[in-house]
Amino acid sequence: MEKRWLAHYPPQIPHHIDYPPKILPDYLKETAAQFGQKEAIYFLGKRLTFQDIYEQSLKIANYLVELGLQKGDRVSIMLPNCPQAVISYYGVLMAGGIIVQTNPLYTERELEHQLNDSGATVIITLDMLYPKVVKVKATTSLKHIIVTSVQDYLPPIKKLLYPFVQKKQNQPLVHIEERDDQHLFKRIIASTKAEEIDIEIDPIEEVALLQYTGGTTGFPKAAMLTHRNLIANTLMCAHWMYRCQKGEEAILGVLPFFHVYGMTTIMNLSVMQAYKMILLPKFDVETVLKTIEKQKPTLFPGAPTMYIALLNHPNLSKYDLSSIKVCISGSAPLPVEVQEKFEKITGGKLIEGYGLTEASPVTHSNFLWDGERIKGSIGVPWPDTDAKIISLETGQEANVNEIGELVVRGPQVMKGYWNQPFETDSVLRDDWLYTGDMGYMDEKGYFFIVDRKKDMIIASGYNIYPREVEEVLYEHPKVQEAVVVGVPHEYRGETVKAFIVLKEGEQCTEEELDQFMRNRLAAYKVPRIYEFRKELPKTAVGKILRRVLIEEENKKG
Ligand code: AMP
Repeated sequence: MEKRWLAHYPPQIPHHIDYPPKILPDYLKETAAQFGQKEAIYFLGKRLTFQDIYEQSLKIANYLVELGLQKGDRVSIMLPNCPQAVISYYGVLMAGGIIVQTNPLYTERELEHQLNDSGATVIITLDMLYPKVVKVKATTSLKHIIVTSVQDYLPPIKKLLYPFVQKKQNQPLVHIEERDDQHLFKRIIASTKAEEIDIEIDPIEEVALLQYTGGTTGFPKAAMLTHRNLIANTLMCAHWMYRCQKGEEAILGVLPFFHVYGMTTIMNLSVMQAYKMILLPKFDVETVLKTIEKQKPTLFPGAPTMYIALLNHPNLSKYDLSSIKVCISGSAPLPVEVQEKFEKITGGKLIEGYGLTEASPVTHSNFLWDGERIKGSIGVPWPDTDAKIISLETGQEANVNEIGELVVRGPQVMKGYWNQPFETDSVLRDDWLYTGDMGYMDEKGYFFIVDRKKDMIIASGYNIYPREVEEVLYEHPKVQEAVVVGVPHEYRGETVKAFIVLKEGEQCTEEELDQFMRNRLAAYKVPRIYEFRKELPKTAVGKILRRVLIEEENKKG
């Protein structure tokens, strides 16, 4: 295999990196030693230094050990971006635990499945998510709930205002059961010792976290990412961004840390490189624009839908966005039109990259400064990362410009899926990860993604797996057949459409189905469009031809 892309690397980027035998918390310790008093986090007016983060992570770790947590035990972190998310992450790893990243938008049913699948015994979550968590406690392996509040890390004035904000947003005041202390996180930070924990962890073999992802086989399964996987990807990222000096950048942290993209390219990178993280718990266009103007981040990793939303904001030109040096777009295709318009209006760079959960996540990106950038391309493989295209017809390496499945290999590629040997064998073959994405490589060694082999839908940056939605639709007593596809959507990128065949003699409205779905799935997975049909196209063995429906939709434009 010829690595054509290496010829285009600027001299500042190495072809190979030496990965030290470290675990993730080692980087926090080093950064705290060297940049201890430097601001690590800015969150809604509150500032924390690297020393604060280090000490508070140690406290969480000590508390977990006191609770009886053993090496390899799973701890779920169900938090939006906030200081507690970073502290819990490093704390669990310092205690030798395995993190289970949990999306705060999960419904009880999704949460229950994830907790049971991972066997997590502890969860760290927000007070406002508590009611959801406590309901599944009895039917999962969960033993301890560590509750925190957004209020715990607000500056005094905002703390005073917090109850009013909650009231205005119609959030019910959470009743926390007596056996679960609503101030536990705060108390741990106030009263637990910050001693180092002596624990042997093999960075190459041992799993640091379980990152749930869907694939095409229904309910999410967990990619096992080791310390080495995550450190390798973070180090690659640091080398790729060679003009960004240690201790000198500030990153806008609006991509959620419970997804591997934000976790690696914002949180782990900032801890390794002593960058300041400007955290936002959710994406709101106006808040993002105001935050950029006031807090002046220099880097802004995001998803295409975020940049599209910013572009479409009527007051965009009123904000000063000049602090941003580079925006890095990943997780879905970045339309060239959006890229060009964004760069013209903001004057900043928007660079496309590519990755997937199973690769911690980044495998490709365009060059940020020196080196040719090709619009519409995901760029070239990162250092130590091999990539090739496999022809679906021959199973052999495809020719240049020939479309096939993208496969990748490198130190960032996962160990396998948690408790899923069959699934693991189907995607990891001879060290190569079969991405399920169709694409091609050009003469220069630049890669292009043309389609997803798997049927995942990406709506507003969220991944939705049709099978999971279909399974719930099938639970409706009036539904005979259901198939879910992604249809192009101007703002969300894609949106979820369901084709339904009702049972003989049944009548059903869109509203009825919508209500049914909303009670069972996170809102972003609920179909926005329903089409009732008498029958669905099928193969000879009765399998529904999803692709035919997608083609019909695409023809409609
Ligand atoms: P996830 O595992 O959630 O990170 O999703 C990974 C999937 O997102 C990949 O397999 C691709 O289908 C898609 N993806 C990520 N980046 C890009 C990109 N730049 N262009 C097209 N698809 C992308």
